[in-house]
Amino acid sequence: MTDTQTTIFDLKEAVHDLCLAKGWGDGDGVQNPQHVAMAMTVEMSELLEKFQWLEEKDVQALLCGRDPGRVSEIAEEFADVMMYGLQLMRCLNIDVSAQIERKIGIVLKRPSGVRGRDIKPQSME
Ligand SMILES: [Mg+2]
Repeated sequence: MTDTQTTIFDLKEAVHDLCLAKGWGDGDGVQNPQHVAMAMTVEMSELLEKFQWLEEKDVQALLCGRDPGRVSEIAEEFADVMMYGLQLMRCLNIDVSAQIERKIGIVLKRPSGVRGRDIKPQSME
């Protein structure tokens, strides 16, 4: 699988197939979405841990391809986050592409501030 050859639907089904193979979710591959969302935050913390206490030179090393080991660790934790996210979207019958398109439209309407940061009205949180 590669990003250019795989759809989000394909990924949702691949993760669901894994859940079925592992017998998760009472055997139907569908786990409690509350539990999945909580597990996703744990995985997000594991992803953030890979960036913990990095100095600017370390970040530059990541961006310039001089730390492939750390990038590999980041990729693995990101995959964990995404797999829970895809599982969540599948069980709640949410179309990820439509939601991202909708959200992009919302963000585009926000006024931009300095350095690309939005001036975010309270109502848009
Ligand atoms: Mg992990």
